[in-house]
Amino acid sequence: MSTETTVAAAVDVASWMHEVASAVEAEASHLTQLDSAIGDGDHGVNMTRGFRAVLEKVDGSQPPGKQLITAGKTLVSTVGGASGPLWGTALRRAGRAVGDAPALDGPALAGALEAALAGVVELGAAEPGDKTMVDALGPAVRALRAEVEDGGDLAGAIAAATAAAEEGARSTVPMQARKGRASYLGERSVGHQDPGATSSALIVAALGRALGPQG
Ligand code: ADP
Ligand code: MG
Repeated sequence: MSTETTVAAAVDVASWMHEVASAVEAEASHLTQLDSAIGDGDHGVNMTRGFRAVLEKVDGSQPPGKQLITAGKTLVSTVGGASGPLWGTALRRAGRAVGDAPALDGPALAGALEAALAGVVELGAAEPGDKTMVDALGPAVRALRAEVEDGGDLAGAIAAATAAAEEGARSTVPMQARKGRASYLGERSVGHQDPGATSSALIVAALGRALGPQG
């Protein structure tokens, strides 16, 4: 009926993975450029290869938790760089947190992203301020949770998370890297944006293009 509005109430995981694959591919040369400055210049290639493989493996007819676990396993097995195991663990943990939930609505997404962040921190031991993906993902997860707790709609919560992730990625510029390859540069890592924080902001932003009605 014309008077009905469809509320975007859940994230479709297969659409999210599709949007991430497109975004990291479109930004691959930028990500590689950032990684060339403070790493080994493979971040764009790593992310593109990983999420292309995810698209081949993820079955959109499966429940969201299962899709996330498949995506995570695929990243771990296809990406050699640090970002593969880190994002792979993140998505696997997210999937486990979602469990058998039928849809990735606001509370489920908040729980999933909190579990993802916890997995990254457990594996990589990065703290806020270490100039890693944690500096983008952490603020995003907290912003999303706060909006969901406030009863905001999912699109608004994701918009807040995206703004926080982008701000977090920019905040890595003046930081000195204390984890990963960039840490080998010591003070010379200062003045460059972290590639993993940058791609993490793309991954969070992609959530906003993967919204649909619940169930
Ligand atoms: P590699 O560093 O093995 O070449 P990538 O270039 O794909 O892997 O990814 C680099 C990104 O991984 C960094 O920009 C950083 O955000 C992230 N990273 C590296 N080590 C850690 C860590 N211990 N914890 C969290 N993130 C990390
Ligand atoms: Mg690299």
